[in-house]
Amino acid sequence: METRFRTLKDIPLEEELVPGTMICAGCGGALLVRIFEKVLGSNVITVNAAGCMTMLSVFPFTPFKSSWFYVAMASAPAAAQGVRDALDILIKKNKIDSKDNLKVLVLTGDGAASGIGLQSTSAAIQRGLDFYYLVYDNEAFSNTGFQASESSPFASATKTTSPTETHEGVMSQKKDLFEIWRAHKPPYVATISPAFIKDMMQKIERSSQFKGPKLFIANSPCPPGWGIESDQVIRVANLAVETGIWPLKEAINGEVRHTWMQKRRPVEEYLKTQERFEHLFKPTRNDEIINQLQKRVDDYWSSVKK
Ligand code: SF4
Repeated sequence: METRFRTLKDIPLEEELVPGTMICAGCGGALLVRIFEKVLGSNVITVNAAGCMTMLSVFPFTPFKSSWFYVAMASAPAAAQGVRDALDILIKKNKIDSKDNLKVLVLTGDGAASGIGLQSTSAAIQRGLDFYYLVYDNEAFSNTGFQASESSPFASATKTTSPTETHEGVMSQKKDLFEIWRAHKPPYVATISPAFIKDMMQKIERSSQFKGPKLFIANSPCPPGWGIESDQVIRVANLAVETGIWPLKEAINGEVRHTWMQKRRPVEEYLKTQERFEHLFKPTRNDEIINQLQKRVDDYWSSVKK
């Protein structure tokens, strides 16, 4: 498919999300949402599950040029169904023009996507709901103080998994949301990164040719939760991809294709950038856990090559 996004100069100039919100400086998730909304354009109804991005719109103010609908964590896909149905009824009654191509976007954090809202998301995918679903994956419940979520990575420190003498932070593995969604057989699933904007814009563009669920999981560095400076967000997001921890990929009608496959850097280059992994290096280096993390990434990429 021909793309209109060949370079970063092709980022649409029109802003759909204007500045002046209560989101933390440097938030990787907010950056992604801004670009995502630019690519989708002005005819979008955003259904926001409770989470960090709730802070974008604080009554009576909103930075969105288009409509924004705030709902509880578990029910965003159900609310999106209601919005889509209402739009389709209005089109049938000739009250709005189908040429306006009004789109429905669910915006959610990983806590809702991987856990609290997974049931309603699963049901919406099965019903074939025509919507975009964007997860800003900051790998914890950041909005409430960075408690562990089902998306928190192994061995990371969170508010509820402080490393102790007997364990090294989160002891479970991050849920594989990409594969959970792919098993539902939606037309489109992808991972994206704020450090790979062209890749992201092209994926949104490719997905838009499909009617049905279009799902995006976005690596979203969180300065206060991950223990990084605001000006390091893109560097950390870049390392997540270049170490192979965050594979950039898409599945079109179930068929997986990786969109970044270059020589990988060692995983510890990524880990060392963040306070949430500091206990793996100080006061003494924990080679056992670092090697486990490296091996898991190596095993993933070996399976890709096969
Ligand atoms: S806590 Fe983290 S994810 Fe939430 S708004 Fe701040 S930087 Fe973004």
